[in-house]
Amino acid sequence: MRQACRVARVRHLWGDGSIPVAGQAGFGATDRDNAIMLQALAEAKRAAEEGEVPVGALFVDNDVVIARAGNRRETDVDPTAHAEIVVLRWAAKRLDRRRLGGTLYVTLEPCAMCAGALILARVDRLVFGAADPKAGACGSCVDVVRAPYANHRIEVVGGLLAEASTWLLQGFFKQRRTPHPSGNACSTGLRC
Ligand code: ZN
Repeated sequence: MRQACRVARVRHLWGDGSIPVAGQAGFGATDRDNAIMLQALAEAKRAAEEGEVPVGALFVDNDVVIARAGNRRETDVDPTAHAEIVVLRWAAKRLDRRRLGGTLYVTLEPCAMCAGALILARVDRLVFGAADPKAGACGSCVDVVRAPYANHRIEVVGGLLAEASTWLLQGFFKQRRTPHPSGNACSTGLRC
């Protein structure tokens, strides 16, 4: 019911009925998308091992993986270092252009900051894993990448391997909430 209300609200805001979020999991995805999303999940897992929220991303241009990364906010002490932003920056440097085209894969629905960056980078296509009902800006809360006022629109495939992404995130936060028997220090060694 909540999902239906959310979709109805987005349709009301944007007048667009094509909202491929949870419920149409992976609709429009190819076997190649599936294989690359598995690599994005590996990046997310690696990020968790570094104490980062487990979100991973890859940028692919003409079937070539140009950049891959996980969240780096703790590592870089940078509030903007979401996996998508890191990957866009690395891809732009590697390709030596700021208009990227191509496809961005990410394990969690991008937030408003990242969705805006995808528009600025003129990414052609976005494939994401789990929908983010609290902060997702590609159909869940708002739809920045297909907003009628934007000067660029992005093809979106949502919900690909969403369960694996959610499982990683839930496991990460559950572990982080577990108090250490000796006191306040986190049992995982993460910065809580
Ligand atoms: Zn973001």
